[in-house]
Amino acid sequence: MQVTVNRVVTIHYTLTDDSGTVLDQADAEQPLVYLHGAGNIIPGLEKALTDKQSGDQVNVTIAPVDAYGERVESMVQTVPRKMFQGIDDIEPGMRFQADGNTGPVLVSVTKVEDDQVTIDGNHPLAGETLTFAVEIADVRDATAEELEHGHVHGPGCQH
Ligand code: ZN
Repeated sequence: MQVTVNRVVTIHYTLTDDSGTVLDQADAEQPLVYLHGAGNIIPGLEKALTDKQSGDQVNVTIAPVDAYGERVESMVQTVPRKMFQGIDDIEPGMRFQADGNTGPVLVSVTKVEDDQVTIDGNHPLAGETLTFAVEIADVRDATAEELEHGHVHGPGCQH
């Protein structure tokens, strides 16, 4: 079956950055199942899989603009440690939800120095050129309920 809008697609993939480091993997035991055309996955990958068939292998390299966007340096800020009241140990790698101009944003702590904490509101993969090696394992029509909700139902879906 062909990958088109409003179909549920099961893929296995290996994601690498431009130095060949493996960033993420989805195999037959834990495949990625998504609703095609609903913006469930990054635009560059959705575009590359459109009109392919189940069983196809797809290799695609995606620029940041069609993945997680370019890094925005103004989203990196140094703030006083006292803004993190009630948290005893602040360490690089911790993630917090913060209030942004357009709603909540997820920020990562990148550096802790004395009374100063550096936080980064960029997506961890912003600015990265990503290469996906994909195998399309299965394609099926979405149910009416899945289309209404804009996502796939099945194991792990909370309703
Ligand atoms: Zn739902």
